[in-house]
Amino acid sequence: MMKRLISSVVSAFVLAALARPAAAYTPVIDAGHGGFDGGAVSSSGVIESGLNLAISLKTAALFRLFGVDPVLIRETDTAVGDGSRSGRTAKAADLRRRVEIVEETEDAFLISIHQNMFGDSRYGGAHIFYKGEEAKPLAEALQRNVREQLDPENTRETKPVANDVYLFRKITCPGILAECGFLSNSRDLAELQDEGHQKKLACLIVSGLLTLESGGM
Ligand SMILES: [Zn+2]
Repeated sequence: MMKRLISSVVSAFVLAALARPAAAYTPVIDAGHGGFDGGAVSSSGVIESGLNLAISLKTAALFRLFGVDPVLIRETDTAVGDGSRSGRTAKAADLRRRVEIVEETEDAFLISIHQNMFGDSRYGGAHIFYKGEEAKPLAEALQRNVREQLDPENTRETKPVANDVYLFRKITCPGILAECGFLSNSRDLAELQDEGHQKKLACLIVSGLLTLESGGM
């Protein structure tokens, strides 16, 4: 599995180096939650916002390695916008600022990183959602690559992002929402905290976007 992962990343790198189109996207990486808003919390106390940030930073580092300069919505464990408050108004301000950052970016492609949580601990596995027809091939390729290269038991199918997700409802660019795993599932929870697994997820995301841009999917 690792070999295939490496070869898909290498081919994406070659594509990026040789044929990155002039009108390529600027990836905007959104580490979900942060600061007063930790997001989901596992029964053992692992907080979603930290995992989102770790995967986002690895994704950004890998983009830079490929000569692509991403925009990061947050780079530390803080809220976005006015982090001095908490509660509902601060959450609304945080989300509005995220929308602004995406909308201020020319040719943006949003990559939003989150984790899932469910009452029944049996359910696990990454689930990729998309906004916009341009983003659908990437979401499908990512979901397929997760199954083929990381998690053969993952039979999830991509879907459009639900309309009640504020950030995705407000943005006008294409994007994906990567729910990388379930904090309520013990296998996922262990993997999501593993740096090697976080890097593999980053590899799939970066090679996926570069392949999409080069017309390879
Ligand atoms: Zn979340």
